[in-house]
Amino acid sequence: MIQAYAEGQDTPGMARSSTACGLAEHGRDGHWGIAREMVSARGGAVWAAWTEDEVPCCFAKEACPKTGLTPQGACDLFSEHPGVCSFALDATLAEDPWRAGRIDAALKVLSACDLHDQQTVHAAAHDATLLTWDELRAGIWTFLPDSDQAAVYRLISRTNSVRTMKPHAVVGHARDITEVTRLWSSSSPCRLAHGELAESHTAILEALPSEWQVKVLGGQRLPDGAAPRTPLGEALREASRQAGTGQAPPSAGRNWEVDWDRQRDRETGARVLDRLSHLPDGWRVDAMRRITAGTNALSAVSDAFTAINIICAYDVRLAWNARNRPRRVPA
Ligand SMILES: [Zn+2]
Ligand SMILES: [Zn+2]
Repeated sequence: MIQAYAEGQDTPGMARSSTACGLAEHGRDGHWGIAREMVSARGGAVWAAWTEDEVPCCFAKEACPKTGLTPQGACDLFSEHPGVCSFALDATLAEDPWRAGRIDAALKVLSACDLHDQQTVHAAAHDATLLTWDELRAGIWTFLPDSDQAAVYRLISRTNSVRTMKPHAVVGHARDITEVTRLWSSSSPCRLAHGELAESHTAILEALPSEWQVKVLGGQRLPDGAAPRTPLGEALREASRQAGTGQAPPSAGRNWEVDWDRQRDRETGARVLDRLSHLPDGWRVDAMRRITAGTNALSAVSDAFTAINIICAYDVRLAWNARNRPRRVPA
């Protein structure tokens, strides 16, 4: 048995990545997800096993030897796994020539949601999001970076709240799904826009002393009054420059209005940093991508925690191994 370690690169600690359960629908017994593929002629992988209340344990497992009817139909699970083989599971997701058309039709309804009744809009949100997920899983899902899978899970988690969203939010949701549907076009780089930028922002942020991280994140709020928000990239560059010369973030001055703002930014920044540092890697990069795009930092991290709590209703069981993991929403 191998317990997963490493909180950050080269740092001992608990695992920071997440994995979703790969088994067919099952009860409350253990979940299994791939932690890492093994590089060997015989294949196999290190699998994380967990239950709802435990941190995962890792086991090296040989690949399931069973194959389906087609030569490509090998099982993606491990030898003697519970439940049906993945090829039997994937059969329900197999390429469906009508699916893309149904997604387009649903997205059209969402983009003009004020012309339709609530029931139609809700059904369209369901189709657009879940059929998009099916189409990805029938094709490129396993090739997507963790942060893009997190982005898709976040969209899935919003499916049911579409009924209470304002029209502009529904249109925004449709726009986000449309961006995901571009992933399966042949010219797509198979990754959502600005993912690499978000990864580099995450790395720069984490290299800063924590008081500077708090300062940068605290400034990533929606502008109110006269103070415009410094874009994340710029704020990070400036903080790196000043931290590099050994400076501490500016402290209270003589202007009480500025002091009050700074104090509030520090408090918010500390909350954002705490939540951000407890998210699995991919979710953290997805939150940073949203902050880069202008979302209020506190909303971006809170949305990630909410999404992780909701997606279990869609049978996505994440191995959650960060400390202070989000509490489950009471049923
Ligand atoms: Zn499971
Ligand atoms: Zn199998």
